[in-house]
Amino acid sequence: MRTLREIDPDVYNAVVGEERRENTGLELIASENYVSKAVIEAMASVLTNKYSEGYPGKRYYGGQEFTDLVENLAIERAKKLFHAEHVNVQPLSGAPANIAVYFALLNPGDVVLGMDLGHGGHLTHGHPVTYMAKIFKFVRYKTHGTDGHFDFDEIRQIALKEKPKIILCGYSCYPRDLDYNAFQEIADEVGAYTMMDMAHIAGLIAAKEMNDPFKARFDVVTTTTHKTLRGPRGGMILSRTEDRYHDKYNKDSKKNLAQMIDSSVFPGFQGGPHMHQIAGKAVAFGEALKPDFKNYAAQIRKNAKAMAQRLIELGWTLFTGGTENHLMLADITKLGLTGKEAQNLLDEAGITLNKNAYPDDTRPPTDPSGIRIGTPAITTRGMKESEMKHIADLMDKVVRNPKDKKIIERVRKDVFDLTAKFPLYKLYK
Ligand SMILES: *Cc1c(COP(=O)(O)O)cnc(C)c1O
Repeated sequence: MRTLREIDPDVYNAVVGEERRENTGLELIASENYVSKAVIEAMASVLTNKYSEGYPGKRYYGGQEFTDLVENLAIERAKKLFHAEHVNVQPLSGAPANIAVYFALLNPGDVVLGMDLGHGGHLTHGHPVTYMAKIFKFVRYKTHGTDGHFDFDEIRQIALKEKPKIILCGYSCYPRDLDYNAFQEIADEVGAYTMMDMAHIAGLIAAKEMNDPFKARFDVVTTTTHKTLRGPRGGMILSRTEDRYHDKYNKDSKKNLAQMIDSSVFPGFQGGPHMHQIAGKAVAFGEALKPDFKNYAAQIRKNAKAMAQRLIELGWTLFTGGTENHLMLADITKLGLTGKEAQNLLDEAGITLNKNAYPDDTRPPTDPSGIRIGTPAITTRGMKESEMKHIADLMDKVVRNPKDKKIIERVRKDVFDLTAKFPLYKLYK
């Protein structure tokens, strides 16, 4: 970084400022994490210089001996990690991964059955503001009740009526595990592909802390690599090889499912892969294959459970009454604040999280009723159950005293003290 400091102090200062912010604040955004120094080194490498359109052994340009090596490492490690028959590590992020799958499996106008967006589904699952919603028809299922369960009879009825070509699960804000067999059974009955977007919980599935969609014979699994999986910002598509609906939907194609996905990512959708990012993925997958990662993933869940328990003791309302994964969704209006107000107040106290729609929210998405709380990042710092209780107490203090600047200042100081005990790396001086 010495060169950057000399050549471009403006950018250097922004990077150093962000490092300081990350070091001195409590990161409770459920989709964020801290990568290892090794991942950062791989990303900050000469691999960013290289054009590698195509796939290992089948590139358009020469000079690929090392890019092939790196991409094959990423693919082989991901296959091992998720017991996947096929892996594509080129998607630039989670959204492009999902788009590439839609175009691999669907024609314009085809139907996708996915979660209602106010119940934890993601923008890329056909939110009206996205281009995908103009091209494909997205129909919805929801969660039910305060326990947030799925009504699979209802999902089956919708599927029989709408005839989706993809049944999609996987969410950005759902605190429970999923019954993939139940989704697969309905898909089998109506002739739909099954797709799981495990962006949030990939690390937990890799560590076998949560159910595995491939065990239920899911066709496609997409993910980001930067959330619980703790790799670089990026995306990935895992799939079976066989196209189970070749005769029904793709009679004229010679491609199997793996080939359909690969040609959809490139040349269908993207250009040259980001090889520095793929190197970072390879490093992160290598880390996730080590026994230590299993402990990390287990601790994420223990921490979420401990924090949820304490928040409930303090009188908070949590969707589904707790959590089985890395996140919680609180209805903060029950404590007299809106989601936006709570987010801003906690930000002032050095606690970062996000406002979030609560199922069947009557408030607008710009200022919803909920806040989402996640433990992956603070678990990476080494924090355990006792810190979770402490953090829950700090959040409660802030939220219950929104007008008291002194209390917020005191909590900010507590956050400084707590984070100083669990330092992150310091790469820059
Ligand atoms: C985060 C997320 C994505 C999108 O990932 P980006 O890398 O931001 O494009 C897609 N699906 C789900 C379920 C997510 O949580």
